[in-house]
Amino acid sequence: MSLTKEYTDIEQLDKISDQKLIELIVNEVQNFLKADLQSIKSRPGSNSPFVNIPLGISNRHIHLTPRTFHTLFGEDAECESMRPLYQPGEFASKQLLTIVGPKLRSIPNVRILGPLRKYDQVEVSLTDAIFLGIDPPVANSGSLEEAAPLTLVGPRGSIYLEKCAIVANRHIHMSNIDAELLGVKNGDYCKVKITGEKSTMFENVLIRTNDNWKLQIHLDTDDANAANVREETSVEFIGKM
Ligand SMILES: [Zn+2]
Repeated sequence: MSLTKEYTDIEQLDKISDQKLIELIVNEVQNFLKADLQSIKSRPGSNSPFVNIPLGISNRHIHLTPRTFHTLFGEDAECESMRPLYQPGEFASKQLLTIVGPKLRSIPNVRILGPLRKYDQVEVSLTDAIFLGIDPPVANSGSLEEAAPLTLVGPRGSIYLEKCAIVANRHIHMSNIDAELLGVKNGDYCKVKITGEKSTMFENVLIRTNDNWKLQIHLDTDDANAANVREETSVEFIGKM
């Protein structure tokens, strides 16, 4: 049913319930978005469908609970934004920490990403992990059962975290509408392709949905460097695994 075709005059619009009107508007918006997606699905000179996903490259970073944050920066400190990130509400904070592995090898100036969370998590690349002498699992954000230990050192204190370090799974952030349009759902795994001199296909890319999120793929620095890509690139969505 279409809002424009079925309910063109005001008198008729008055007769339908608010709920029905909301449904019609939602349908209309979804149809518009589908039409929009269809229009970008045809690659010039080819029939193969494609959708490009903007790329975000995640350098090593830290998420902290308020409690750990205050242990490291003092009771009065606030997690302040230095610059907003692409995803609404998320930011790179002004605060940095040094992370130290069990062999006392350390990496300084690791940035905290805000806002503060319900768990402490350090996301590193495999290259970082080898340097630090730890063996973190490839895991989804928040899955810390098998995470590796690190010590975090801040200006006002330090803390040893038994299970904090992971290598973040490749993942794509998207809204539920984007997921529907791409034929995937939260928790699915898909394939993407990066063209260029070091053309690469990435598999096992996790779909994560939240209606606050904008469509964006997150690769860590190891994956991005393997494909020799920078942030201004986009990645071709191939489909579900
Ligand atoms: Zn992400």
